[in-house]
Amino acid sequence: MSAISQKDAVSSVHNGVPDSAAGERSAGVALPLDRLERVAGWGMAVGGMGYVYRPSTIDGVAQVFEIARRTGRTVGLRGGGNSYGDAALNSENIILDLTRMNRILVWDPSNGRVTVEPGVTIQQLWRYAIGDGWWPPVVTGTSFATVGGCAAMNVHGKNNFKAGPIGDHILEFDALLPTGEHVHCSRDGNTDLFYGMIGGFGALGCFTSVTLQMKKIYSGWLNVDAISVPHMDGMLYELDARKGQADYLVGWSDAFASGETLGRGQIHQATYLAPGDDPYPAQSLRIESQEIPANLFGFLPASIIWLFMKPVLNDWGTRLTNLAKYMQSATLGNHKRYRQSHVAFAFLLDYVPNWKLAYQPGGLIQYQSFLPLATASPVYREILARSQKRGVVPYLGVVKRHRPDDFLINYSVDGYSLALDYKVTGSNRASLTALLKELDRIVIAGGGKFYFAKDATLQGATVRAFLGEERIRKFGALKERCDPESLLQTDLYRRLFGDQ
Ligand SMILES: Cc1cc2nc3c(=O)[nH]c(=O)nc-3n(C[C@H](O)[C@H](O)[C@H](O)COP(=O)(O)OP(=O)(O)OC[C@H]3O[C@@H](n4cnc5c(N)ncnc54)[C@H](O)[C@@H]3O)c2cc1C
Repeated sequence: MSAISQKDAVSSVHNGVPDSAAGERSAGVALPLDRLERVAGWGMAVGGMGYVYRPSTIDGVAQVFEIARRTGRTVGLRGGGNSYGDAALNSENIILDLTRMNRILVWDPSNGRVTVEPGVTIQQLWRYAIGDGWWPPVVTGTSFATVGGCAAMNVHGKNNFKAGPIGDHILEFDALLPTGEHVHCSRDGNTDLFYGMIGGFGALGCFTSVTLQMKKIYSGWLNVDAISVPHMDGMLYELDARKGQADYLVGWSDAFASGETLGRGQIHQATYLAPGDDPYPAQSLRIESQEIPANLFGFLPASIIWLFMKPVLNDWGTRLTNLAKYMQSATLGNHKRYRQSHVAFAFLLDYVPNWKLAYQPGGLIQYQSFLPLATASPVYREILARSQKRGVVPYLGVVKRHRPDDFLINYSVDGYSLALDYKVTGSNRASLTALLKELDRIVIAGGGKFYFAKDATLQGATVRAFLGEERIRKFGALKERCDPESLLQTDLYRRLFGDQ
């Protein structure tokens, strides 16, 4: 049965919505007004109006491509909408939201292979598999991302130095190309598409199913160590020195600390429990043992905490909070060892639902740069110092250790990443934009790279500088083959590749 009803077919009545992005295919016909919604990036700093379609079948996806073709619109694919910037936006055009394609298709608990539709979230996946002793091999800081969105961005977790990106755990996938072709891709067949579509930011085709190899776990707990670090060099040293013994590593950095203490913070290292270490695995592997509590401190509904954060989410509030957090980590909290559930360790940011609302009305921009071992220290110290000098200091800093991978659109390095959350306000928007341009130059000069899932401000020339002409040429050839009409576009695509 058709997933898109007749009502959704093209209307010939013009609805007054600007047609500027329609391009050459424009047939002068309009889309139904009731599809029009405001859609924003996760960071809320960018957004726009788009015609949103939410099919539940592959036929429905194909029909949306057809509707776009007939109306002269482009199609932007969207999963859970957790990309910080404009990667899943398609202003004035069609947004194909895949969250209703959310079925787990095949599960084999004997080997941990799972095949899912693209809209299955990481949360759905762990909840489904944990009772059998399996955990997603790579997870992002939020559990609300979909497998399709994660494959399209080739996401990394706090285990990137050891496990690589999610693409390293994808065994095969099926995709529908805008040409109408259904493709099956793996390391043995259609390999160019396998390495191009994973990380290909939804510009080549739509994943319709993805098969992942899950990670075997023997307990619902992780052993966690907390280590305080006095400055950025200490942070980078510890993250590197610990990578042989850790399964997960992540650093928090206080971006307000300056001088000798620039980049100080705290590292959390986690390791899996070996078989037999947990006397009660059937208990710790229950969903109830993992779940994030709905109340903090036993009584405060987590859903309203962002309201308390809002008044203190300013320079002085964050400076003091960071100071208190660092002092605690350097004294009582230093070298503390404890056990934590996988969910609590992996999805700390989900503990406070809607915490991003504390950044309203301007939202936030996350700036994540990836630097090789040799240049990370001077570049990260310069980024922090320059942010302080310009008076635009990020409120959250997260450092990770990474390893390179083989995918075509590639952001990772043998080195580190530093992700910084900048609050956007009416008064700092211009200076923040200018600062980030300065930082782009510093990162590129240090041989660094950027990640489209976090980006809202890069320019095409910067992307060419870090990806290199050869990769862009190869990606362009794949685009020509999979999507010769350039049907698949997003705001990010036009911003970075519009002049290709
Ligand atoms: C709080 C928070 C923490 C995060 N932590 C991390 C982290 O630790 N590591 C990390 O790597 N990222 C992280 N991210 C970023 C996030 O994981 C990525 O942006 C991810 O791609 C989001 O998945 P999504 O389903 O929300 O996809 P969306 O944001 O909706 O889309 C992402 C991209 O996928 C494309 N796409 C979506 N579905 C499909 C499909 N079926 N076929 C083809 N293309 C498709 C879209 O066009 C878009 O280009 C974090 C984000 C948040 C909000």
